Amino acid sequence: MRYHGPMKTLAIIGGGAAGLAAAVEASREARARSSEVGITVYEADGRVGKSILATGNGRCNLSNAKSDASAYRNAGFVGDAYRALPPAEVRSFFGDLGLVMREDGEGRLYPLTNKASSVLDVLRFAAREGGVQEACGAEAVAVTPVDGRFLVCFADDGTVFADAVVIACGGGAAQSLVPPGYGFADVRPVLGPLKTERAPLKGLNNIRVRCEASLYGRPAEAGARDRRRLHAGGALKARETGEVLFRDYGVSGIAVFDLSRFAEAGDVLSLDLVSGMGEAELAADLASRAERFGARSAVDLVSGMLLAPVARAVLASIGVQPDAPLSRGRTADLARAAKSFALEVAGIGDVRQCQVSRGGFDVASFAPETMESRLHAGLHVVGEALDVDAPCGGYNLHWAWTSGMLAARNAVGRLCR
Ligand SMILES: Cc1cc2nc3c(=O)[nH]c(=O)nc-3n(C[C@H](O)[C@H](O)[C@H](O)COP(=O)(O)OP(=O)(O)OC[C@H]3O[C@@H](n4cnc5c(N)ncnc54)[C@H](O)[C@@H]3O)c2cc1C
Repeated sequence: MRYHGPMKTLAIIGGGAAGLAAAVEASREARARSSEVGITVYEADGRVGKSILATGNGRCNLSNAKSDASAYRNAGFVGDAYRALPPAEVRSFFGDLGLVMREDGEGRLYPLTNKASSVLDVLRFAAREGGVQEACGAEAVAVTPVDGRFLVCFADDGTVFADAVVIACGGGAAQSLVPPGYGFADVRPVLGPLKTERAPLKGLNNIRVRCEASLYGRPAEAGARDRRRLHAGGALKARETGEVLFRDYGVSGIAVFDLSRFAEAGDVLSLDLVSGMGEAELAADLASRAERFGARSAVDLVSGMLLAPVARAVLASIGVQPDAPLSRGRTADLARAAKSFALEVAGIGDVRQCQVSRGGFDVASFAPETMESRLHAGLHVVGEALDVDAPCGGYNLHWAWTSGMLAARNAVGRLCR
């Protein structure tokens, strides 16, 4: 494809969350300035917005009422962006498009319809009504600055010139697109399940526990055998409270997804399975149980506190026979083991379940208020293509909308000068 014409043009590479927000905002900005800008979204896939449909288990947790910049990687950059475009403006943006939202008890925002397709629909309708062109099946392979404009090359050998560009192609794909000179942190999938050592997980597949999960760096004595003290030498990296789902390969659940942003092979995940009690209190409770229910097996002794398979796994971790009575001398050990059920992390679990990628363009090369490159005026990078990620809860999509909108405002502002 080749575009010739007097109208200034904006090429948006990627029709996912950030790209569609950029397209809609660019059309609104151009209208507000009574200017004509040719806006085209170039999407590699056969249709735009597929990534939005997959979010929030099909419900799209599109933002978070807290939207606290400190939750993000490169928090200073994100904070500056959120000052330039406060979170309330993103909510107004969607409200103006006709989307009605509801907030759950933890500040997570969803469409009232509970369907991600509603979010995509309002974006697509607004884009179409704003005159945005969609070019699907257009996989960009290079963006080259040429005399103050940009030559965009596509995998099918097509080319197009644009006066401004917004790169919104998500994590991973972007590095090869832009000219040399930009820092780029290696991309790896995060916000997903963790693969751990398997032996302690025997009998736990598909069991859920609510617990406090702490991630410790690789212990000083790597390969330590004493599981109760496995994390003794490692520094605390992150801690989350919530549901953990045991799988035969490791652990999953929102708390684990959030910890996966910081996890590396060799770290130790320590689960406090009775987080409502301190260790001494738990030890006293177990001693009292041993007095009252002394004839019971060890696993039955803790019934009402731990699910039986979980109790078996904890008892196994300290070498106690679950079907025999617990010796009084082991109650303190059991309390410690239940407060720190330790699993050595082997890496990220199934990457297909990961929600974001960590890494991307170094934010230092971009202005946080505009997402514009400091090296090439008119070139913007947004969304996951930048080295920004955040925990679950609507934060990642909120970043995609915000960065896309900021880039669009700046790009159109430049083109209308
Ligand atoms: C299963 C799942 C569930 C999620 N749930 C949530 C949630 O509920 N809440 C939340 O906040 N976040 C969620 N996320 C994260 C969120 O979807 C992303 O952070 C967000 O979509 C990133 O927006 P983006 O526009 O940067 O990238 P994307 O939305 O991934 O869009 C990138 C687009 O660019 C296209 N593209 C790629 N390369 C090229 C190329 N070379 N040329 C042209 N087009 C290209 C892609 O096909 C895609 O359409 C979830 C992610 C996943 C995977």
